Amino acid sequence: MLKAIFLDLDETLCDTTKANIVAKEQFAEKALEFFPSKTDATNFSNAYLKGIYKDLTPEQKAIFFPITCEETFRTKLIQSLGSPNNSVKEISYQEASDLREYYDASRIECFDFFDGAKEFIVKLRENYTLVLITNGPVYSQVPKVERVSIKDFVDHVIIGGQEPEEKPYKSIFSKALKLAGVQASEAMHVGDSIAADIVGANNSGLTSVWINPAELENEHADFHIPDITQLKKVISQLS
Ligand SMILES: [Mg+2]
Repeated sequence: MLKAIFLDLDETLCDTTKANIVAKEQFAEKALEFFPSKTDATNFSNAYLKGIYKDLTPEQKAIFFPITCEETFRTKLIQSLGSPNNSVKEISYQEASDLREYYDASRIECFDFFDGAKEFIVKLRENYTLVLITNGPVYSQVPKVERVSIKDFVDHVIIGGQEPEEKPYKSIFSKALKLAGVQASEAMHVGDSIAADIVGANNSGLTSVWINPAELENEHADFHIPDITQLKKVISQLS
């Protein structure tokens, strides 16, 4: 019998892509003073977003992976993306730090639940124990969790960056099972990432539900739904 539902945050409950797009545009505007054209500022902004998702070239990895402090990493990334080749002037560490803060503020301001998601989990919690399991550094995930007051809507919150291992590792799902006081067979995990959410759920013996708005084919997930509010169909199929 289903007793607990584990939920991913980004792209499952909240529209992270929308927040990223808005922040990226505002960031490019803000960075314009350092670049000769809007195109250069836009390229800079796109490269920064890729960088903070650790989508880096081998050369960048060699420079940045040893930096363990997320704040320092992002500030230095801004500096290196801005200079010396394509910017009109060198970006100082302080200016880079200000830009980083500007990006974070823009992003968090428009970070929110998908339409209907909050209301849906409020109803869901009447019957199930809810545990949020979100991957990512404390630097980015704590402000998001606070922004949407997720602790008011779920029973437990687990942030990957605060754990020894993130999804898809078993230890993080074991922690969620322990917090919820249920067996793996009594829980499901819902998320948008095949590699982290679905593979992780499957390896831990949980029912896996894939948020798949593009309706792509994938044999790994037990179920797939276009958005979180459609989870009720899965639950009624299970019971
Ligand atoms: Mg996600």
